[in-house]
Amino acid sequence: QTIQDELISSIRTIKDYPSEGILFRDITTLLGDARAFRRAVDALVQPWAGSKVDQVAGIEARGFILGGAVAHQVSSGFVPIRKKGKLPHETVRIAYSLEYGLDEMEMHKDAIRPGDRVIVVDDLIATGGTAEAACKLLRSMGANIEAAVFIVDLPDLGGRGKLEAMNVSVRTLVE
Ligand code: 5GP
Repeated sequence: QTIQDELISSIRTIKDYPSEGILFRDITTLLGDARAFRRAVDALVQPWAGSKVDQVAGIEARGFILGGAVAHQVSSGFVPIRKKGKLPHETVRIAYSLEYGLDEMEMHKDAIRPGDRVIVVDDLIATGGTAEAACKLLRSMGANIEAAVFIVDLPDLGGRGKLEAMNVSVRTLVE
């Protein structure tokens, strides 16, 4: 069984969640499968074996779970990118568009040092709007983005192209 097959079979699909007509890819079943979880994290970090990464930036909320494991694996720090109003210290903020309306995400002002080599982590990329905003926010603080990594790509929604257009390399494990 290939790693792709193993990961795909560990992801559950929920019909009509969070709204009608949506097929939600539920990765909690992957996280709950010890072997799939380990294989996913190992595969995500594979290009950085032996190279230096300063920070892993995880996008709330599933990017925190994966990002913590990824940061441990590459021996880097971890930076949370959160929905607005959740971080206690001074922040920098960026607005981005969702399917309906706008939202904002933020990170601590002192979380990144200029020139830090950063990997951005989330569970899934769809339109790429969330990850694009996170990358812009990180770059505004001087981050050098090594890549954005995701377990799942929904290729019909064009997220990969959106990140590549801003010169961010993208690594995904399954479609
Ligand atoms: P995008 O901004 O790329 O359109 O949407 C990606 C963001 O929405 C990610 O933070 C991701 O966690 C969440 N997301 C959108 N659709 C799904 C889905 O089907 N499954 C999961 N697990 N997350 C999703």
